[in-house]
Amino acid sequence: MLREARLFGAVEAGGTKFVCAIGDENGAIHAESRFPTADPVSTLAAVRGFFGERSVLGMLTAIGVGSFGPVVLDRQSAKYGFIGKTPKAGWSDIDVVGMLAREFSCPVGFDTDVNAAALAERRWGAGRDAATLVYLTVGTGIGGGVLIDGAPLHGLMHPEIGHIYPRRHPLDAEFPGVCPFHGDCMEGLASGPAILARCGAELSQLDAAHAQWEIQADYLGQLCAQLVLTLSPQRIIMGGGVMDQERLFPGIRQRMLHWLAGYIDRSEILDDIHHYVVPPGLGARAGVLGGISLAIAAAKQS
Ligand code: ZN
Repeated sequence: MLREARLFGAVEAGGTKFVCAIGDENGAIHAESRFPTADPVSTLAAVRGFFGERSVLGMLTAIGVGSFGPVVLDRQSAKYGFIGKTPKAGWSDIDVVGMLAREFSCPVGFDTDVNAAALAERRWGAGRDAATLVYLTVGTGIGGGVLIDGAPLHGLMHPEIGHIYPRRHPLDAEFPGVCPFHGDCMEGLASGPAILARCGAELSQLDAAHAQWEIQADYLGQLCAQLVLTLSPQRIIMGGGVMDQERLFPGIRQRMLHWLAGYIDRSEILDDIHHYVVPPGLGARAGVLGGISLAIAAAKQS
């Protein structure tokens, strides 16, 4: 008789929507529900409700939460498992891990949404042969998760890759940028809202001759070049709403090579860049499978 598969809970906690799921070690999803992110009390009640109603599927071995940030990942901190100080109304200082651990009496894994997605891509997706990798998302914001030898990078807090400053593109000298903290950081210049503010339309609505394609590819190419120089990843995986445009990848790769200027003498970059800067192997499922990956890791550690 087959041993029954262990079940894991996943929460993809996004700024605009939450996705809850129950899955197994093979990455198969058995149940899933999504709802808009409202105030913390009603949103977390919906999360509890989802797992509570589905307890008939079996006991959860662990739950994993990949969350919008900033999040507190320092296990020595009294606020481990909390969402930190965020401009998102009502969500600062919310104890996400504590709530789930009390309610379901199982280990709870917790990390940034992008570190979670990086773990899922490493386990099942485009990073299976890359232990040190970066997962970037370019959408409503720009974020990046980092795995070093398979483990998510936390350090002081966690990386905030979307907020580094690129060098300005010559065709984009005037636009002030939309980041409330920095103005013209990467997120301020190249996120979905930045494109909308600059062009009055989404990237997908602009024809191929529009300068935004060149500007966008240049900024993201700069970002990739900076990541190669600072983190030495074996792969860069790029997802998110803006990256749905397959047309962007050739330009990004070309601009990354331009900014590296031949300095990094590796065949992975010089001869095989199509396998170096790649779309997510899991597509839009990277988020929820990230939660499952965190849950599997939490079960191992407990
Ligand atoms: Zn910023």
